[in-house]
Amino acid sequence: MNRREFLKKALLTGGVVGATTSLTAPAVHARKRYRWRMVTTWPPHFPVLGEGAEMLARLVEEMSEGRMRIRVYGGGELVPPLEAFDAVSQGIVEMGHGAAYYWAGKSPATQFFTSIPFGMNAQQMNAWLYAGEGLRLWEEVYAPFNLVPMPAGNTGVQMGGWFNKEINSIEDIKGLKMRIPGLGGKVISRAGGAAVLSAGGEIYTNLERGVIDATEWVGPYHDYLMGFYRIARYYYYPGWHEPGSVLEVFINKKRFEALPEDLQSIIRTAAYRTNIWMLSEFESKNYAYLKKLVEEHKVRLKRFPDDVLRAFKRYSEEVIEDVIAKDRMSKRVYESFRRFKRDISKWARVSEVAYYELMM
Ligand code: CA
Repeated sequence: MNRREFLKKALLTGGVVGATTSLTAPAVHARKRYRWRMVTTWPPHFPVLGEGAEMLARLVEEMSEGRMRIRVYGGGELVPPLEAFDAVSQGIVEMGHGAAYYWAGKSPATQFFTSIPFGMNAQQMNAWLYAGEGLRLWEEVYAPFNLVPMPAGNTGVQMGGWFNKEINSIEDIKGLKMRIPGLGGKVISRAGGAAVLSAGGEIYTNLERGVIDATEWVGPYHDYLMGFYRIARYYYYPGWHEPGSVLEVFINKKRFEALPEDLQSIIRTAAYRTNIWMLSEFESKNYAYLKKLVEEHKVRLKRFPDDVLRAFKRYSEEVIEDVIAKDRMSKRVYESFRRFKRDISKWARVSEVAYYELMM
């Protein structure tokens, strides 16, 4: 196309006019500033998890050159930690940061997007969410609540938890009051214990006062910061109940859809970066803190006996069967999860597992 034809075409289609106005339009657009608020399920300025939420906000501000600023609030500063979902859903605030399994009471299907017992690890969860059907299904589950979810952090494989007695057989779970969210909590209940869901900021006091007998939290680095070694003696592994927990950012859907596309993209990019940063932060520090716990604080590091793990696995299957029998959305989500896990596990056998054996 020569210049003349180009100009003619441009004039006919309004391209030239469009070009002129587009020179000024973005400038007008750019002046529109967004001042948003993000509530979290974490105590104010909480290491790693809360820091991740703050990092996401900072990245959005940087990438948008200040057009969008997000003020982050700790749990309880604007709304109680476990009311973050409702606050964002109702548009009281625009965003929240937490973990999807906290919202099992809203929809049981939410639990599959954090982590399920004997589920997938961080790398596999990311693969399912970003490159499989995971994120699309998650969006579908959150849409009726007027929310848009995004992965925004991962803990990696967690630890099994803190106990004040040894767990030598599944009988030792009977009567045990343990803070453990999600489907893992249902497994503990099925084994005769009592599962409690409490926000991070309340666990220490509850354990200290005997409101609970045991708790799981994240892994050595974060558990060290929480100080559980001062009030519990035994530290069990592996974290069968949370092999790669996804943290989330959830956004009021109407407000998100009303944003210009570049800001939507900036938020998605910031969430990706936060996701990788958080996992890296945990993975890089966990061993140093495990060593500290064992050597300096004389914590007794113990592996759950095989028959206890086998029982947890059997109960997990029953618990999942129960959830999907009662809730159609959970069934759909779990079917996708299970298919993905089956295939990626077969691949892991000749990749990750084979390599770990070689590397160790
Ligand atoms: Ca946990």
